[in-house]
Amino acid sequence: MPAVFHQQVTILGATGSIGASTLDVISRHPERYSVFALTAHRTADHLARLCLRFSPHYAVMTDGEAAKELKGLLQAGRCATTVLEGEQALCFVASAPETDVVMAAIVGAAGLRPTLAAVTAGKKVLLANKEALVMSGQFFMDAVGVSGCHLYPIDSEHNAIFQSLPRDFRRRPEADGVRRILLTASGGPFRDTPAEKLEMVTPDEACAHPIWSMGPKISVDSATMMNKGLEVIEAHWLFGVTPSRIEVVIHPQGIIHSMVDYVDGSVLAQLGNPDMRIPIANALAWPERIDSGANTLDLFDIATLRFERPDFDRFPCLSLAYQALEAGGSMPAALNAANEEAVAAFLDGRLGFCRIADVIAATLERNGWPRAETLEAVLETDACARSLAREEICKRSAA
Ligand code: NAD
Ligand code: MG
Repeated sequence: MPAVFHQQVTILGATGSIGASTLDVISRHPERYSVFALTAHRTADHLARLCLRFSPHYAVMTDGEAAKELKGLLQAGRCATTVLEGEQALCFVASAPETDVVMAAIVGAAGLRPTLAAVTAGKKVLLANKEALVMSGQFFMDAVGVSGCHLYPIDSEHNAIFQSLPRDFRRRPEADGVRRILLTASGGPFRDTPAEKLEMVTPDEACAHPIWSMGPKISVDSATMMNKGLEVIEAHWLFGVTPSRIEVVIHPQGIIHSMVDYVDGSVLAQLGNPDMRIPIANALAWPERIDSGANTLDLFDIATLRFERPDFDRFPCLSLAYQALEAGGSMPAALNAANEEAVAAFLDGRLGFCRIADVIAATLERNGWPRAETLEAVLETDACARSLAREEICKRSAA
């Protein structure tokens, strides 16, 4: 057997749900992967445990106090990992010459700069942090084009599409006979909840996803279906498909992770148990296949696969995302920022569940959201939309 190329991996957002799944896959293949750097926001004790287990060269905490705590914990544990702090340090580990692969798994806009640092440095980038791509769209894809970095989707749907497209696909769907992307969605915890009951749902109920176990922000996004909206925008940028050719299909079992419909009537799909280690292992090893630790799919146990149309009335966030993508300019960045603010307010009990969409819609109406051509312009849009969204949240505050 040929020797495998050993790769050093940096995990941005190592203490999160995707971080944990990535470390699980890596730990199954010590001959292929080692950990170069791990990062987290505030949870020093969690990152310390990971450092003691994986011995990275660097550990980065964005919060200064947490970085001090981490240094103390690592000294006590006689761990040689160097502790750094702040956003610049995230960019440093994402672009360091020793890093071969970067898992971009910070949640939200906070991941944009470090993910772009990895892209610009030409790393192999595994993109879980969909918000970074949604907010910077063309700018992000241009940076990928300039550096020639290899970008692999980790979102299970986009990874399924990636696996169902031709191997030499170059973001020209027509040239490859692609008619539509069928983006599957579980429908989230409130798929069958009547509209009047949605008014009263709590953060705990919203975070109790029926299929996936994920961080709180994406769990709420799944409950509002904004997650699918962000994924429509993500699919547009990753695969060059126009919004009218991206169709959302509710598939409650989460077994088909998405499909590509070709002009000859063939529909190619990727199936598997709902386990994020599958897309992570696929992206890490592509074009090879490695064990992910996921259970074998038992089709006899599943027996039937179900599909439904999405309900755009009960889940207005999905329509808002399509509208923002159609409108173009920096509206997707504004949508993402307003959503992040509204979800944070919902999680802290300051905003009702159904007001999340209202806050986003009102924020989008308050500006023209012209195209943002530079990173600074993208970040300005983000800041402006957050400030408008906070005003809209105050007007509707539940507290
Ligand atoms: P999570 O909340 O479990 O973890 C988030 C990670 O980001 C943590 O390590 C946290 O310390 C770090 N972080 C949070 N705020 C930060 C900040 N301001 N600066 C630096 N680091 C910060 O989230 P998750 O569920 O792992 O999701 C991560 C990303 O992956 C999200 O963009 C999400 O949409 C995407 N994603 C997740 C899943 C999933 O199954 N969890 C599936 C598809 C896509
Ligand atoms: Mg997804």
